[in-house]
Amino acid sequence: MTIRLYNTMTRKLEEFKPLVPGKMGFYTCGPTVYWDAHIGNMRTMVNSDIIKRVFIENGYDVTHVMNFTDVGHLTSDGDTGDDKMEKGAARENMSVWDVAQKYIDGFLYDMDLLNNIKPTVMPRATDHIAEQIAQVQKLEALGYTYKIPGDGIYYDTSKFAAYGALGGQKLSDLRGGARIDDSGKRNSTDFALWKFSPTNEKRQMEWDSPWGVGFPGWHIECSAMSTKYLGTHFDLHVGGQEHAKVHHSNEIAQSEPIVGAPWVSYWMHFEWLMLKDGKMSKSAGTAYTVRNLVERGYDPMAYRYLLLQSHYRQPLEFSFESLDAAVAGYKNIVRKIADLMTADNIGELDSGVYNIWHNKMLTIVSDNIKTAETLVVVQELLKDASVNPATKLALFEFIDRLLGLQFIDRAKKLVDLEQQSAPDDIVVLAQQRAEAKANKDWTTADSLRAQIDAAGWTVLDSKDGYKIVKKA
Ligand code: AMP
Ligand code: ZN
Repeated sequence: MTIRLYNTMTRKLEEFKPLVPGKMGFYTCGPTVYWDAHIGNMRTMVNSDIIKRVFIENGYDVTHVMNFTDVGHLTSDGDTGDDKMEKGAARENMSVWDVAQKYIDGFLYDMDLLNNIKPTVMPRATDHIAEQIAQVQKLEALGYTYKIPGDGIYYDTSKFAAYGALGGQKLSDLRGGARIDDSGKRNSTDFALWKFSPTNEKRQMEWDSPWGVGFPGWHIECSAMSTKYLGTHFDLHVGGQEHAKVHHSNEIAQSEPIVGAPWVSYWMHFEWLMLKDGKMSKSAGTAYTVRNLVERGYDPMAYRYLLLQSHYRQPLEFSFESLDAAVAGYKNIVRKIADLMTADNIGELDSGVYNIWHNKMLTIVSDNIKTAETLVVVQELLKDASVNPATKLALFEFIDRLLGLQFIDRAKKLVDLEQQSAPDDIVVLAQQRAEAKANKDWTTADSLRAQIDAAGWTVLDSKDGYKIVKKA
């Protein structure tokens, strides 16, 4: 099937052509592990996961690399301010290393709650210092770097003619009117490749380098680690929308002089999850984690369902009202699947019908990851009385692989809950009644219903089966 993706670099929808037939390698800029990832960060991770699932269902062998930034990310997102990791350590009175581990564990826990497939490789920046130093040395040998004494080794963006192309900025706009501050940078867009440790304090994370003791700049880790695990050229690079203008532009500037252009075939950027009044904020207590949603009684799948009802290129406004609506929509689908599972006559899988619906959904989602439109087809499928329960259930196995919404799992749990809540003897009576009905033995069916009734239970029939509920 054709896969089309919106490529930020060309600003066009493009047909995906792999570098190696049948394979797809991609890189997601992962979390900075100084604090919990909030549900906005996790929107980006769900988007990555859906892309991966779309390629897998199209038969690709996917390699997915997602990094953990555990050093070098300064609070300004530029090259000034405190180190986020050191700040996290001071806040929690822990070592930087323990803080990193704590938030890596928490992040992986939330990834699991959201049913995101684990990335193939999850490299940590601090485990790849040698690779980062080697890359800076190559840039130095090619003449792209300069030193700001007492500060660090910087990348001279004026040396890279294509700088800013990803963010849609022209060099003249970027530099023309930009006032150069007194930081010692030659151009306002220049950025640190290696920062020197301060002379008056000892950092918890610092390493020897050809330029002196210090730590890597934030951007170099992604250039070094993506290339290490995906090769010098790879298919796709993704991240939150804010990365196009700075972080990813810097990654390109660091990589293409060494490996040649284009380093990456396709770039995708995800819009953010927002609140009515703006960004999620830790200090305002609105940076909810997936675990916070679970503590409030929400199924993480309802949150995933909410996310998939929007397109990744649209900002999404989060509210508990919209989450409640998603819960209702999600439960409704689960209810219908549970009814299919307990239907009297499930029928047999009709592969012709299966293929039609399978291809319809895969075609839609493969066209720039249209998850919302795919979910509309899911509703149409449930409504279509001409598709028998066995075929619908098989299609839901596919839908779960594609969208990761765990419909079948939740429906099974619902069926178990409803059936197990009645004592065994009642479940047996209800089964006998269903058999009697199937044999059109109405007298036995009626008498069994009366027995169930007398014991305080009711059998509710639906067109697809029955359920046993306690009498109010
Ligand atoms: P960070 O830990 O801040 O480096 O962010 C990790 C990832 O989450 C990056 O790819 C960001 O672009 C992305 N991100 C940050 N905030 C949001 C948000 N509100 N909605 C969606 N993605 C976000
Ligand atoms: Zn990155």
